[in-house]
Amino acid sequence: MALVFPGSTCQICGNELGEDYRSDDIVGLPEGLLAMTEFSRFNDSVMHQHCFQNWIKAEKFVNILNKSLLNSGRKGCVITNERKFKYL
Ligand SMILES: [Zn+2]
Repeated sequence: MALVFPGSTCQICGNELGEDYRSDDIVGLPEGLLAMTEFSRFNDSVMHQHCFQNWIKAEKFVNILNKSLLNSGRKGCVITNERKFKYL
């Protein structure tokens, strides 16, 4: 899972996390699982929940990440009713 610090940048909006880096609004993403996909920049990175909620590629991202998570023997992830990203 990505190391998260104030200088980390959200892979959706490109902004630094700043003081939000410890908040519940931040999602850490795994290393390696997205490397060979169109979402390779998300490999071992972070994103804001509020950016994910409005992201047009959210469903495609979750589908691709789920294949990799399940293939590696891990639990998957879902989009909640509030359109938030959640690991199972
Ligand atoms: Zn963001």
